[in-house]
Amino acid sequence: MLEKVLIANRGEIALRILRACKELGIRTVAAHSKADADLMHVQLADETLCIGPNPSNQSYLNIPALISAMEVSDAMAVHPGYGFLAENADFAEQVEQSGFVFIGPTPAVIRLMGDKVSAIEAMRKAGVPTVPGSNGSLTDDSERTYQLARDIGYPVIIKAAAGGGGRGMRVVHNEAHLLKAVSITQSEAKAAFGDATVYMEKFLENPRHVEVQVLADGQGNAIHLGDRDCSLQRRHQKVLEEAPAPGISESARQEVFEACVKACIDIGYRGAGTFEFLYEDGRFYFIEMNTRVQVEHPITEMITGVDIVKEQLLIASGQPLRYRQEDIQFHGHAFECRINAEDSKTFMPSPGKVTNYHPPGGNGIRVDSHLYSGYSVPPHYDSLIAKIISHAPTRSEALARMRNALDELIIEGIRSNIDLHRDLVTDTGFEQGGVNIHYLEKKLGL
Ligand code: ADP
Repeated sequence: MLEKVLIANRGEIALRILRACKELGIRTVAAHSKADADLMHVQLADETLCIGPNPSNQSYLNIPALISAMEVSDAMAVHPGYGFLAENADFAEQVEQSGFVFIGPTPAVIRLMGDKVSAIEAMRKAGVPTVPGSNGSLTDDSERTYQLARDIGYPVIIKAAAGGGGRGMRVVHNEAHLLKAVSITQSEAKAAFGDATVYMEKFLENPRHVEVQVLADGQGNAIHLGDRDCSLQRRHQKVLEEAPAPGISESARQEVFEACVKACIDIGYRGAGTFEFLYEDGRFYFIEMNTRVQVEHPITEMITGVDIVKEQLLIASGQPLRYRQEDIQFHGHAFECRINAEDSKTFMPSPGKVTNYHPPGGNGIRVDSHLYSGYSVPPHYDSLIAKIISHAPTRSEALARMRNALDELIIEGIRSNIDLHRDLVTDTGFEQGGVNIHYLEKKLGL
């Protein structure tokens, strides 16, 4: 068993990791930036270490500072959370080379999945359904590029192999714009990610975002924990998620679950991971894999009863997976609203002091948040301040619980997007279920 874990993250996820460690009797080291000394998990951790100044590139992204923090504190392992260094293969490699445990997959697997061209190739081999596309990177051969687009059929999307965060993509509607779009995406990819490799996919016009949560131990055992629908997005950022994804046939879903589990075994996956799909007209199309715990993991925990972060820690301790697929039972429905410190209408960040905080409660309500009255939200980082999670036997009951929870929630002193969520949970289209990834932006008039 791991004895001491360094938490290389902040905010709600750092607190989430700390709670899981405490439950397992693992000692914790909170590595934090200067501005973050009064974060809730820093106050609750066994040890704390300031790893640098406020900008994340000097603190939460500072690999040498984090490795020294592990050496100084004698932590055995590091939990990277999500964002920051969570999917950085070089970090995972340096952690391992320094004799510590990286809580996540091997550096080789992070690298394989971090490059979308190699990820898609690996998924195709494993039998995971992918988007019809170039099956490899585009070359200088313009005739070949034209032919690929004709075979796939317009519209197509040109995507950077190293892309992330919704950047490095361009949709092309006809042949006249194809080559120009390829060369612009290549230069943008080179500038943003240091890698000009691009590939081509069919552009799906009205898909939903449906993803599959997996757990694997890297010892030949893997299971899935069902799916989540994260179609409500603004600028490729998820806003409100639910599990399971509504209105998907049991056969389509079982088929994709089995393919994901097989893919985990094929690539030697270890830890928690998510296969992201676009879902259109009853079919799943793999777009990418996230090799880390995700923001929306709690809704899966609510419907399965599995503590995903605890399982990450047990797997990193070298234990074989303690669940078999048949042990996983799905119960009811769950929603998650991401509460951000930002204006509900303009989406402008709103850091500052929280003068009054009152979280909701009651049957089936969970709040993952590092907020407390008097806490100051610093301006340097992501604006996520709370996740309100509701769970109930049916979708409509879980939604009703979420409405109550949002009515009870009070955050004063700063602006937040609570009103946007209040609006969404009473939206008739959303209430019916199964909206696509453009729904929220259309509703917002974007
Ligand atoms: P990133 O790593 O930048 O998040 P993804 O490959 O996950 O990139 O794509 C991000 C988003 O871009 C998707 O959620 C979807 O909205 C859109 N997108 C990507 N590929 C396609 C496609 N083939 N057809 C339609 N939309 C797509």
